[in-house]
Amino acid sequence: MAIAEQGTISIHTENIFPIIKKWLYSDHEIFLRELISNAVDAIKKMRMVSLSGEYSGEVGEPEIVITLDQDKNQLSITDNGIGMTAEEVKKYINQVAFSSAEEFVEKYKASEDQAIIGHFGLGFYSSFMVAKLVEIDTLSYQEGAEAVHWSCEGSTTFSLEASERTERGTTITLTLQEEEKEYLEEARIKQLVTKYCDFMPVPIKLGEEQINKQKAPWKESPSNLTDEDYLEFYRYLYPFQEDPLLWVHINTDYPFIVNGILYFPKIKPDIDVTKGQIKLFCNQVFVSDNCEEVVPQFLLPLRGVLDSTDIPLNVSRSFLQADRTVRQIANHVAKKVGDRLKELYREDRAKYISSWQDLGTFIKFGSINDDKFKKQVEDILIFRTTATLGADVPEGEGQEGDVWGDDKQADSYCTIQEYLERNKEKHENKVYYCTDEVNQATYVDLLKNQGIEVLYMDAFIDQHFVPFLEREYSDVKFLRVDAELDETLIDQDKPAEIVDPNTNQTRSDMIKELFEKSLNKPQLTIRTESLKGDNAPPAMLLLPESARRMQEMMA
Ligand code: ADP
Ligand code: MG
Repeated sequence: MAIAEQGTISIHTENIFPIIKKWLYSDHEIFLRELISNAVDAIKKMRMVSLSGEYSGEVGEPEIVITLDQDKNQLSITDNGIGMTAEEVKKYINQVAFSSAEEFVEKYKASEDQAIIGHFGLGFYSSFMVAKLVEIDTLSYQEGAEAVHWSCEGSTTFSLEASERTERGTTITLTLQEEEKEYLEEARIKQLVTKYCDFMPVPIKLGEEQINKQKAPWKESPSNLTDEDYLEFYRYLYPFQEDPLLWVHINTDYPFIVNGILYFPKIKPDIDVTKGQIKLFCNQVFVSDNCEEVVPQFLLPLRGVLDSTDIPLNVSRSFLQADRTVRQIANHVAKKVGDRLKELYREDRAKYISSWQDLGTFIKFGSINDDKFKKQVEDILIFRTTATLGADVPEGEGQEGDVWGDDKQADSYCTIQEYLERNKEKHENKVYYCTDEVNQATYVDLLKNQGIEVLYMDAFIDQHFVPFLEREYSDVKFLRVDAELDETLIDQDKPAEIVDPNTNQTRSDMIKELFEKSLNKPQLTIRTESLKGDNAPPAMLLLPESARRMQEMMA
């Protein structure tokens, strides 16, 4: 069919209103965040107008004051921001989903640190989720402006009249619905301000008392912050927790805006890696307690704050994962984290190694899950080795409490590449590893005595990491110390196998038969050849790598 008609779709406010009130935000408490955000915007706008030279009057100390009136059942929020003229009230308030933000930013060329929170022109109406009557009392900064009073009872009709107000700014007064009286309680309001508005850049007062913290360290330049500042912020966000190992401060404004401080906590084996603890902010306004949709899963063990104006907030969270900018931000954050780890490896290797138990888990988990991250960190992915590598022993005496202890020989660490390179003459493309330092000690000793280097892969994540390494290094054989005896270990000069003259059996056949009868493990290999080295045991029991894995799988 040919197009018969084109036109504009219209919306009936009578029908859309209940939807906005009921469904737009899942949580009623959000109204406070929205109204305070508007007040902060109004104050920021006042500052910008003043800076532009368009207004020469006093701007005064910015503040937002919340008052609670039990008798009248009213909550009000007053700001000394830009205010509104009657025209502006008609334009921005009476038209639902019409925001002044874009026009304003365009006109005053607002810079990033003056960023306006508002965007969609819907926040104001969230007040009807809790109020049966909403009033606006406002006076614009503009010369000759007259104060106006607007009121609306949640229907599609409003009234607008002159007001007595003499101070520049806006007061929003909500007369609460019967079932929303909790918002008259001081404690509830304090809790909500702490939750959503703690870091908003304007003092928020309940009566005389300022109830928000205000300083958002992630918006500061890293050079203005000391280690103690970072730690203090961590303790504020996560009280009664162990101090973090290190942190990374992200400060990016191109090609997208993202600020944040991410901390590496000590990783407990029972940590739930599906549940994030990074707090998400948008323009210093708290949005959510986790960033699961915004950062890649392997970053979820991290803690701290991410703040981005480029993360679309009013869309369903499952859409976030598909959003291109969100994906770019995620990649960017991952890269910054990798960079920070590399920097620590380069600049403070002793600390890197002493934190390795935790960092290693994180790096291995990230390597398995994210190819880009793997490439970034493969050169700093290390294993403790039986080799003594001078490089890791710091010069001078060990200090009390440092990694090396007082009398202990420092452990050495190396990457797989370094191991392969160092050992390629002795055993090309083979990596001997130990998963249990105590139970496999005899095997490790034997190999050590033969001059064979062994890597420890005994962290709880290594069980998954060894198979990963095998896929990565497809031409390298990973052999657990008790899996196979290298033929080079046999001392050809010592006498060969002893043969029992009565049965004509070799000693290894005899032992094998014995084991097979009693333990039913026919895949065992018994080696009784004379092994090199003074402390070599008279015989060794070996379970081939493949057989052991089969067993582990069955278990
Ligand atoms: P948004 O904040 O996304 O723009 P809102 O529905 O929260 O949408 O607000 C609509 C508009 O009303 C704002 O863009 C602003 O122009 C105006 N407004 C709301 N609250 C205030 C206030 N306290 N002071 C001045 N203007 C305000
Ligand atoms: Mg708003």
